[in-house]
Amino acid sequence: MEVKFINLKRQYNSIEKEINLAIKEVLNNANFVLGDNVSSFEKEFAKYCGIKYSVGLNSGTDALKLALIACEIGKGDEVITVANTFVATTLAICDIGAIPRFVDIDPLTYNIDTEKIEKNINKNTKVILPVHLYGQMCDMKKIMMIAKKYNLKVIEDACQAHGAEQDGKKAGTFGDIGCFSFYPTKNLGAYGDGGAIVTNNEELDKKIRMLRNYGQEKKYYYNFLGYNTRLDEIQAAVLRVKLKYLDKWNDMRIKNAKLYSKFLEEYILVPRKLKGYKHVYHLYVIRLKNRDKLMEYLNKNNIYTLIHYPFPLHLQKIHKTLNIPKGSLPITEERSKEILSLPMYPELTGDEIKYVSNKIIEFIKNQHF
Ligand SMILES: *Cc1c(COP(=O)(O)O)cnc(C)c1O
Repeated sequence: MEVKFINLKRQYNSIEKEINLAIKEVLNNANFVLGDNVSSFEKEFAKYCGIKYSVGLNSGTDALKLALIACEIGKGDEVITVANTFVATTLAICDIGAIPRFVDIDPLTYNIDTEKIEKNINKNTKVILPVHLYGQMCDMKKIMMIAKKYNLKVIEDACQAHGAEQDGKKAGTFGDIGCFSFYPTKNLGAYGDGGAIVTNNEELDKKIRMLRNYGQEKKYYYNFLGYNTRLDEIQAAVLRVKLKYLDKWNDMRIKNAKLYSKFLEEYILVPRKLKGYKHVYHLYVIRLKNRDKLMEYLNKNNIYTLIHYPFPLHLQKIHKTLNIPKGSLPITEERSKEILSLPMYPELTGDEIKYVSNKIIEFIKNQHF
């Protein structure tokens, strides 16, 4: 048996007719940029999240960047975030001249350790930018309390957490702005690049709408420098079809995660789901000492796994100028050597999960310590 890390074809097959029709309609209407599909998707996505506004953009990276710009963050400002995240989080911060301030992660959830945020706040701190990694939210209640105390903005990186919840409230809706990616492999994925911000703040919504469209309020009148970073009509049409299935697909991911955990929990550390949280398992991440050997063993058995992420951002060349020595974020650094993401997507079958699990158990049992 071969088990791919992700198989997008299975999902397409399940909604092929609807998708083809939606794309054909866009082609027939011949309106490709900022048309009805984008504005309808924005309304539908905002409603799904339980928030007032959503603005469609061309990626999660740009969602983060425009969110920071709209909050008037710039040169020299410090943004509190984590080093165990996708590089886009810090690319957005550094692109506008701000400085990432990395906080270590919680040893069990691998999300930002909220206990360690306050001691990283100084006079230059302007934003807390929590990343809801792997599909489980950070403790946003705690983060909002800290932000209020120090008068900081909060921008949520919800690129891996479409539909995740804390106490019934969705990811992206706690802070000033929530940022989403619709990269094809995300829980809600387009057939190309895409992204969005969500907010309850009318002014931020307006500003980001202008920023994504050359900075114009009225056609050919420019008050500030903008960008060209819009969600396009074809992707919006695809996303409108797929949004209807997001809850169902997240439930399938949850079911798959439960099955993995049932097989594996007595052998290795399985993901920790917190009480009161809805974990949507963008990734199913296990932890063990012999990670690299297991990865190799699974690979030999045609099971494809990945590491999210193998080399923490604070130690990467791009952040060399920050001069953060090795050992500064001990949990982040330790975990990066032990975590492994197993194949995870809604359409993964029970047989495949069983096969992967059995191979892992076989590996563990045959190890000689
Ligand atoms: C995918 C992702 C992004 C970036 O999204 P793009 O659409 O690829 O630009 C940012 N942050 C996190 C945590 C992500 O997983």
